[in-house]
Amino acid sequence: MTKTKSEELFDEAQHLMPGGVNSPVRAFKNVHRTPRFIKSAKGSSIIDVDGVRYIDYVCSWGPLILGHAFPSVIDAVKNATEDGLSFGAPTEKEVCIARLVCDLMPHVEMLRLVNSGTEAVMSAIRVARGFTGRNKIVKFKGCYHGHSDGLLVKAGSAALTTSIPDSAGVPPSCAKDTLVALYNDEQSVQELFSKHKNEIAAVIVEPVAANMGVVLPKNGFLHFLRDITKKNGSLLIFDEVITGFRLSIGGAGAYFDVKPDLVTLGKIIGGGLPMGAYGGRRDIMKCVSPVGNVYQAGTLSGNPVTVSAGIATLEYLSSHLELYAQLESKTQKLSDSFRSSFGKLVQVNQIASLMSVFWTQNPVTDYESAVCSDTKRFSDYFGFMLDHGIYIAPSQFEALFVSAAHSDEDIDSTIQVIQKYAKHLFEK
Ligand SMILES: *Cc1c(COP(=O)(O)O)cnc(C)c1O
Repeated sequence: MTKTKSEELFDEAQHLMPGGVNSPVRAFKNVHRTPRFIKSAKGSSIIDVDGVRYIDYVCSWGPLILGHAFPSVIDAVKNATEDGLSFGAPTEKEVCIARLVCDLMPHVEMLRLVNSGTEAVMSAIRVARGFTGRNKIVKFKGCYHGHSDGLLVKAGSAALTTSIPDSAGVPPSCAKDTLVALYNDEQSVQELFSKHKNEIAAVIVEPVAANMGVVLPKNGFLHFLRDITKKNGSLLIFDEVITGFRLSIGGAGAYFDVKPDLVTLGKIIGGGLPMGAYGGRRDIMKCVSPVGNVYQAGTLSGNPVTVSAGIATLEYLSSHLELYAQLESKTQKLSDSFRSSFGKLVQVNQIASLMSVFWTQNPVTDYESAVCSDTKRFSDYFGFMLDHGIYIAPSQFEALFVSAAHSDEDIDSTIQVIQKYAKHLFEK
């Protein structure tokens, strides 16, 4: 059989890059398929190098809430490039995006732009430690906060499916200040605070966990975290790299009406280009250099082209707030279809335009219940969807992202494939 162009490229790529990719989950390793090399994308579709078109529910893993190649974002980027790619000096655009974010997220009084979500989290934690004079942080099992040393401690996301609970190369000394609690388990947090009195700088949490598949916070869980951190002089950090501008224009803080001390942003804020940010209370952010003594810097931070894409995205979202209800109803339609097609075989977790279909019979509320899922069944389902033109994340433990570009026809065609798979499954 002749090879597809994706197969040929992947053969060569594997000689040139570890696993043939620049981020592990892209390799399709756990679903035993060849990754599709993408040539172009527009709206809700991506087209691979063999000319095959897919309805895309990965959306670059979250940034593309407006869909691929959104006209006003592309125009903003084109215009910005004409003026030069990088200055290493302040620009008006940085003031504009900072003003936008502070307006949209009232608990963000000041922010600093960085180049990725990983960098945002890493820096926010340094600030929390600098501000409190404490070293320990609490994270939750199954939450992913980027690949910095201190946070690759039982991380979710790709580290979960590639069966590397920790990473080689992370010195034990880096992991020793990271305490791991259980998501949705108040007692596990309480125990850490009792055991490490006056030592915990911050609790960091994905307000909706989206890197062990989508797992919703139980009623009151985020409020509990707000209270216990306050009571103990620790900071609460919401890692809103996925939820920021997605759950609502004000992110999860606004959605759940909980005010964290610091927020980390990424993905949507860059509109598809590499950007992250961290921000929050003014008194805390004033610890950051050059005002304060917590050092953090970046040659390309606040890059004018990247910032232009971010501004165009945030401006469109904030002037089309009706999008959020539309996104939610499209996503609900999909989750209803999964539930009615597969019945007891699946658990569907959904909130706003985020969802996951877990191949397990019991409710998924934390890491332990997520990993009960039948990943072999997931692989089979993934392959069927791919073969029928539906591109979802190649892992049981990732979210499905719906964008504003997904039309009612896209949703209907997707539902047809879901029903076709159910038929295939129940006839076997
Ligand atoms: C994606 C993600 C990160 C890391 O962001 P990168 O831009 O990939 O470095 C951090 N936290 C959460 C919650 C994420 O989903």
